[in-house]
Amino acid sequence: TRVLLTGGSGFIAAHTLDVLLKRGHSVVTTVRTQEKADKIKVDHEKEVESGQLSFSIVPDIAQEGAFDKAVVSDPPFEAVLHTASPFHFNVTDVQKDLLDPAIIGTTGILKSIKKSAPSVKHVVITSSFAAIIDGAKGSNPGHTYSEKDWNPITHQEALENPSNGYRASKTFAEKAAWDFLEKEKPNFTVSTINPPLVFGPIVHALDSLDNLNTSNQRILWAVQGKWKDEIAPTGVYSWVDVRDVAEAHVAAFEKPEAANKRFFVVAGFFSNKEVAAIIRKNFSEYKDKLPTESTPGGDYPEGDQFYETALKKVLKVPRRKSLKGMDGAEKTSAGSIPFSRP
Ligand code: NDP
Repeated sequence: TRVLLTGGSGFIAAHTLDVLLKRGHSVVTTVRTQEKADKIKVDHEKEVESGQLSFSIVPDIAQEGAFDKAVVSDPPFEAVLHTASPFHFNVTDVQKDLLDPAIIGTTGILKSIKKSAPSVKHVVITSSFAAIIDGAKGSNPGHTYSEKDWNPITHQEALENPSNGYRASKTFAEKAAWDFLEKEKPNFTVSTINPPLVFGPIVHALDSLDNLNTSNQRILWAVQGKWKDEIAPTGVYSWVDVRDVAEAHVAAFEKPEAANKRFFVVAGFFSNKEVAAIIRKNFSEYKDKLPTESTPGGDYPEGDQFYETALKKVLKVPRRKSLKGMDGAEKTSAGSIPFSRP
């Protein structure tokens, strides 16, 4: 299948690109600059040479019409995987830095496809558990989150702080995609992949640890000694392996039954305290930097009272080993990605 993958320089997208290429798909990936394309080329020389992989430069997805050129290719695209969206909290203007690129990026690519790429049959969008979880309800004991849930966050709440801003950006962008499908009745299906916190190996070009992607940062903080006196609050207790998220993106357009559904892909629960304990057990070289068993903070809520997640298995993708070295994580793995109907 001829596939367009947006944001190829990202943490999740780099794994998705690997899966696409391994499965024999022909891929064009968008990146913001030629330098970023050159870095991906280094890891995929063979595929670039054979023509299986090429690049399209899209500097800013928040611009109207940003994808107009990228969606047109010869041979034409059949599937589009839209992963590009800001996930960081280093923002001065929530609207401009988070909401606009997420929302305009999503509606923009759907408009460009409808207008200029009639051959596209499937669009897969990276949404998030952020579009599902109701942050105002805190740890929400007694509730089971599933694809039926929507984060009820408002635009006003979005502007209150970067964390709200990010969650709202994912919520509004995903809503805009489903609205587009309903109103515009395009020629393509839409599937969304909604992962909670994504952990796993880095396969994309990373020039500095300062630029480590947001979800892996807490592991870095632990080994840098930032949790030595107190472990940071966990915040969200669900996680999934990046390799499973990548598989899910590809399965979502390869399998017809995935059309027009959202998929809350979840492996299990974790706490920052467990993250620290797993590193302590497996990486003795960080002993001096790490918190001890009695360091306060980072635990599950009192009495393990927090939300549940629905684990229904509908579509199976191959099961991965959990985080390398994070053997504790295996215990909470569901055994397969729990795809379920919305
Ligand atoms: P990364 O920060 O590694 O990837 C984000 C990608 O989006 C990068 O390629 C980035 O390009 C691109 N991007 C951001 N803003 C723009 C813009 N204005 N114009 C063009 N490109 C842009 O993070 P992840 O891989 O974690 O995130 C990928 C997707 O997964 C996002 O949609 C995110 O919301 C979603 N997600 C991630 C989770 C996680 O825990 N990691 C959990 C749930 C969802 P560049 O690097 O050049 O800035």
